[in-house]
Amino acid sequence: MLTFEELGLKPEILKAILEIGFENPTPIQEKTIPHLLNTNKDLIALAQTGSGKTAAFGLPVINQIDADSNKTQAIILCPTRELAIQIANDFDAFTKYTKKLDVLPVYGGASIEGQIKSLNKGAQIVVGTPGRVVDLINRKKLKLEDIQWVVLDEADEMLNMGFKDDLDFILSHTPETRQTLLFSATMSKEVLRISNDYMESPEEISSGKRNQGADKIEHYYYVVNGRDKYLALKRIADMNPNIYAIIFCRTRRETQEISDALVSDGYNADCLHGDLSQAQRDAVMGRYRKRHLQMLVATDVAARGLDVTDITHVINYNIPDELETYVHRSGRTGRAGKEGISIAIVGPKDSGKIRQLEKIIGKPFVKSEVPAGEAVIEKQLFSFIDKVLETEVDEKQLNPLMENISDRFADLSREELIKKFVSLEFNKFLEYYKNSNDLNTRERGGRDADRGDRGGRKSGNYATLFLNIGEKDNLNSGTLLGFMNGLKEIPNGIDIGKIDIQRNFSFLEVEARHEKTVMNALNDSEFDGRKVSAEPKTGGGERKGSDRRRRSSGGSGESPRAKSGFKGRFGDSKRSSGSRPRVKASSGGRRK
Ligand code: AMP
Repeated sequence: MLTFEELGLKPEILKAILEIGFENPTPIQEKTIPHLLNTNKDLIALAQTGSGKTAAFGLPVINQIDADSNKTQAIILCPTRELAIQIANDFDAFTKYTKKLDVLPVYGGASIEGQIKSLNKGAQIVVGTPGRVVDLINRKKLKLEDIQWVVLDEADEMLNMGFKDDLDFILSHTPETRQTLLFSATMSKEVLRISNDYMESPEEISSGKRNQGADKIEHYYYVVNGRDKYLALKRIADMNPNIYAIIFCRTRRETQEISDALVSDGYNADCLHGDLSQAQRDAVMGRYRKRHLQMLVATDVAARGLDVTDITHVINYNIPDELETYVHRSGRTGRAGKEGISIAIVGPKDSGKIRQLEKIIGKPFVKSEVPAGEAVIEKQLFSFIDKVLETEVDEKQLNPLMENISDRFADLSREELIKKFVSLEFNKFLEYYKNSNDLNTRERGGRDADRGDRGGRKSGNYATLFLNIGEKDNLNSGTLLGFMNGLKEIPNGIDIGKIDIQRNFSFLEVEARHEKTVMNALNDSEFDGRKVSAEPKTGGGERKGSDRRRRSSGGSGESPRAKSGFKGRFGDSKRSSGSRPRVKASSGGRRK
């Protein structure tokens, strides 16, 4: 790997980026920087947000700008006002030790007069949204005849947003001698057209699937019926107490509705969509950036300029109409080398879209189960206990009161006291999830069905057993299947469906016609020295809109993946030796 020094950047730029904390170039920077420093050729770079693309084009452009001339030499076009500001801020940081360079962001929704004033003073680099740039060109305030570099950042997004004519107009006003750089997360037909029309034999580079961002993102999907989507969303959030998420919806109305419902259910959420004024949007984004909000519900357009590096989860409340939009959505997490989770909540008929998305992102989606109410309760309980343990005590303030407090609790044992504190936090929560439904539904025409066909699975009619053993007894799907294969009361060849191992207990799907036999065999057995108890799982109704209140956890740095036990599936389980296993993981079964 080359260092920034070896890429040929000036010492004053090296000093600035070192100060920002960039130690080594990202893959896209390693390719783009020498290209821009050493050649005049046009460049197409396939890169997502999070790949370090701003510095990839920014550093070499800054390196070559003539600071002695105040003519506009570089123009960066990007889809949103927020992104324009972000890029300009990044450029300001990169030029901290460079001889005075003026970088001016220009965008709609703000007074054009101020921007014209700044332009009159001279700005060597202009970063703008296409509409405002066209306006400034038409008013003859922005002069492009000395432009040497044109950067089209997030070209696919600009085209999706309908800036095609504006881009044509701007590009046709720049000199032919310019070097054009096009950055795009996806290569659509429209992007290709722009490159054909305005670029000369461009070189193509890609940070491809290997870029920092994409590599660190894991993709999961949950299959639920339409009416259960909101409940599934809440369970996913509840299963991740330190979630810091962005939830994408399709329409402004849906965005508002989901956000309202979350707020009325006690979550720390707000929304971002086009019906809000710019001031309202700025306020919401500010609260989200500061982590005063844990969940931001947004439309694609409204969320475009949002630059937040440590989002833990991107949740697609539905799959976007334009499948490629998924790439942008998921690119909001897994940024700057961090890990991220992208989730799609889909309906039973959406399997085809998931398969198409897998092709686009070049990675598989993992099918996951919406966690059962019991699992959510357990997760929240232990998260609460962790927080209690981490809570700092202000001895000075508390000590004078301790005698009094101890007197009040004098009649309670330690166990009673713990139970009371836990109940104070949890009674409403327990009530809410008591008898909660299984929200998962089978995928139609998807992986389950495919496998079922190949494996000749029968009706898929499973009964679910509750077992009193779980992770803490060293149980996993492999050891459970192995254990069951060792029980001679279980006849050969029984299909096992989903296995859901939780910390203290598990759920096991078995062919319904063998439910009793398996249950009896398990009830007569011991696993790892512990008497096993198996009983049919019971279900009930789930109340929506409970009035329970959820504390804001303000987001610690917990890795969502380290603790969430509900996602992912095991590979093939180990079976006990022998020719025909008593139980086998069904070809259609989903194991966890
Ligand atoms: P971008 O793709 O330009 O939106 O950058 C994503 C994030 O990565 C930003 O927060 C950058 O500050 C950060 N970043 C960019 N280049 C590097 C690098 N070489 N080393 C560490 N962080 C970087």
